[in-house]
Amino acid sequence: MNKVALITGATRGIGRQIALTLAQEGYDIAINYRTENDELEETKKIIEERNVKCLAVQGDVSNYDDCERFVKEVIDKFGTIDVLVNNAGITKDTLLMRMKKEDFEQVIDVNLVGTFNVTKNVVTYMMKARTGRIINISSVVGIAGNAGQANYSASKAGIIGFTKSLAKELASRNILVNAVAPGFIETSMTDVLKDEIKEEIAKSIPLKRMGTTEDVAKVVKFLASEDSSYITGQVIHVDGGMLM
Ligand code: NAP
Repeated sequence: MNKVALITGATRGIGRQIALTLAQEGYDIAINYRTENDELEETKKIIEERNVKCLAVQGDVSNYDDCERFVKEVIDKFGTIDVLVNNAGITKDTLLMRMKKEDFEQVIDVNLVGTFNVTKNVVTYMMKARTGRIINISSVVGIAGNAGQANYSASKAGIIGFTKSLAKELASRNILVNAVAPGFIETSMTDVLKDEIKEEIAKSIPLKRMGTTEDVAKVVKFLASEDSSYITGQVIHVDGGMLM
């Protein structure tokens, strides 16, 4: 029987690439999506082309009841969840002086509370199975901070604390919990930046380029695999050397 991976926010960008990479490894895939659109259909199609099963489950990760329901849908279909990747995330960038309370709360609700909501429901099953991998997508700005991203940085720093605490709580059940901290990755999230800014950023990165979704997905693949069986509570930077 194939192993099963659930990836949140997997219709595009990093989440989609993680889903494709794990499908390539032979995992059956559950993709969580918030909005039904062509990107979702395309993602499902390319996963199924890899000859594994694909279940798409709708739900807003910031809504606890949605998470409880869609995790159960995955269990009903596949019977287990071996790997959870908490990837869904949003930005609402602006300087603190202009940041509305809702801008702060929405980003925390999706990125950090969303990670709690999904994990809490999945861990119930992983604890019974006495095995599992949880991989949380944080960010370099959760470690270093960034002007204009107080909300996003706080959410991504929170994910790191959450990851380390859970790694300690769940180690005895053989559930390994790690975070990946990407730098600047080419996706629709960074597409909003002007070309000049992207070039400036690329110049400041030791490896002199923005990262690709594949750069991140390959590390998630490693953290999901047997090759990382002695790694838990870690934050793996995938940032071309931005932070050392
Ligand atoms: P993206 O292209 O904007 O994709 C984000 C995905 O998350 C979309 O599928 C989106 O679905 C989904 N999503 C957003 N809110 C959701 C919610 N409430 N419930 C369920 N799904 C939701 O972003 P990305 O660049 O691939 O980012 C993926 C993750 O990597 C995020 O956690 C991000 O913070 C992190 N990251 C990205 C970078 C980067 O440079 N790109 C760097 C560091 C970390 P909808 O279409 O429904 O909105």
